[in-house]
Amino acid sequence: MECDVCGSHNVLQRTIEQRLVEECQLCGHLQGDDDAVRAIEELQDGRERGFDDTVIPLVHALESTEVFRVVRASPAPGARRESPQVLFRLDKGETAYLEHLMRAIEFSNRTTKRRWIVELSLQHELLYVLKPRFMKPPTEVTPTEIEQACADLPRLARSLRRDLGRGL
Ligand SMILES: [Zn+2]
Repeated sequence: MECDVCGSHNVLQRTIEQRLVEECQLCGHLQGDDDAVRAIEELQDGRERGFDDTVIPLVHALESTEVFRVVRASPAPGARRESPQVLFRLDKGETAYLEHLMRAIEFSNRTTKRRWIVELSLQHELLYVLKPRFMKPPTEVTPTEIEQACADLPRLARSLRRDLGRGL
C-alpha cells in the first residue's frame, strides 16, 4: 500500500469510527473505501464545528448543495434529550433551492416517524430551522417523542443527501 498524497509505504489498515480504511502513518491521509473515508471526515469535521454525532450526517446532507450553510444544531453534543433541529442560512440567495429542499423533505416525510418542517426565524439574520413538528408547546414534548425525532435523523440525512445531490 502506498499513500496517495505523500507516497509513503507506511500505510496501515485501521478501523476508525467503525469503518475500515487505510491510514498513512506519515501524513495522516485516509484512503480506501470512498464512502467510509467521507463518513469519517464528515464526523471529524462536524465535531470540530461543535455538532453532535447524531446531527452531523444531516448537516452534511444540507451542505452538500453548497447553498445551505448550517450555523447551529441541536442536540448539543451529548445532550440527547433535546429535540433535534438544524438552523441554516441560504448562502447564495438561491431561493430555488428552498423549493428543492422542501420537496425532498416532503418525500422523506413519507417514511419518518415525525413530520419534519422548515420554519423561518429572524435572528441576527434570516435563518431556516429544520425541525420535527410537535403540535404542542416545547415543554410538553415527551422524551419518547424526542427519541422518535432523533431516530429519524439518519433516514432524513440519507434521503436529503440523495435528493439534494440530484441538483435542481
Ligand atoms: Zn501520506
